[in-house]
Amino acid sequence: MSGAKNLAEIIKSQIKLEGPISLSTYMGLCLTHPEFGYYKNSDPLGKSGDFITAPEISQMFGEFIGLFIAQAWIDLGSPKEFNLIELGPGRGTLLQDAFRVFSKVENLTSAMKLILLETSDVLRQAQKEKLGHYNPIWIDEIGDIKDNKNPTIIIANEFFDALPIKQFQKQNSKWHERAIGIKNKKFAWGLTPNEIPKDAFPSNIIDAQDNSIWEVGFAGLRLMSEIAEIIASNGGAFLAIDYGYAKTQTGDTFQAVKNHQYVDALAEPGMADLTAHVDFEALSKAATNAGAVAHKLKTQGQFLSLLGINERSEQLIKANPDMAKEISAAKQRLISDEQMGSLFKLLCVSSKELIPFPFGEN
Ligand code: SAH
Repeated sequence: MSGAKNLAEIIKSQIKLEGPISLSTYMGLCLTHPEFGYYKNSDPLGKSGDFITAPEISQMFGEFIGLFIAQAWIDLGSPKEFNLIELGPGRGTLLQDAFRVFSKVENLTSAMKLILLETSDVLRQAQKEKLGHYNPIWIDEIGDIKDNKNPTIIIANEFFDALPIKQFQKQNSKWHERAIGIKNKKFAWGLTPNEIPKDAFPSNIIDAQDNSIWEVGFAGLRLMSEIAEIIASNGGAFLAIDYGYAKTQTGDTFQAVKNHQYVDALAEPGMADLTAHVDFEALSKAATNAGAVAHKLKTQGQFLSLLGINERSEQLIKANPDMAKEISAAKQRLISDEQMGSLFKLLCVSSKELIPFPFGEN
């Protein structure tokens, strides 16, 4: 315990000592500070929280991820023991829905070693209540399983968007890092004075116009390399679902959300969800460089349609006619281009011998 009253105080003292801090430092403190971090203390999910995610919208989402996992396990040769890892499982809803599918596949559940990577004690408790029956173990970082050589299937929904990013901005034809300092007693954006060498930037970014912002998620890239190494050497697959762009591009996507509304990210550190869009091209390259195969991206709409969301929603409506409106609305929210269908994308990374379904399909 630091003795400080709140996170703003802690960050202000750090800035007074060291000067302006990188956005990645700010984001890391706001989200995961051991005492005051956003994810440490609360359950931010759902209607009463700050945002809502696909598994909380409809049971169909988790069921289809369950299908993906079951098929990948079969394609791996139905190993007698395998790791199923979820990064940032939230309330555990996705896996709870996935496990209904597992019960239809012989030997799958008994082969599974369930591993959950989670920073929040509140959410670990919620996961224990929903998934405790499957004897999960919790880990703090992916490196904790590096001596485990089982075939491994990893899933992550809305996890990469919560990892700290850095932002760089071009001014007078030179690139500088954006940083957070203090002005008139409030947090304020600024640029660090040193020019960042041009060769640090991807070729399609170097010549961007003045004032352009480029974001890079070093934490996510490092994590992807570690995961790809595990997948390549143990055999297996990784499915990352998130909102983001297919090609590396400029743009400021850093945002703060509280009570389903956008708020100023610097106003109340630790009180809002901070995220940025995910650069899937950069993640795919990190996976390939680490020796795994990065398959062609699918949008959430494509993925769920290929796996049969239309048929599944009709089945659910038949069984629950009173819920017809809600079930159709949830399906639309997940797949329509105006809602989550194309902004959300799925990146599948696998070991060389595997083409996980439906990533071989067009
Ligand atoms: N996958 C869930 C929750 C998404 S919210 C769903 O789709 O509903 C992000 C999740 O990642 C939360 O469970 C949060 O506590 C966890 N998380 C965020 N940053 C983390 C970090 N650095 N290490 C471990 N878990 C983290």
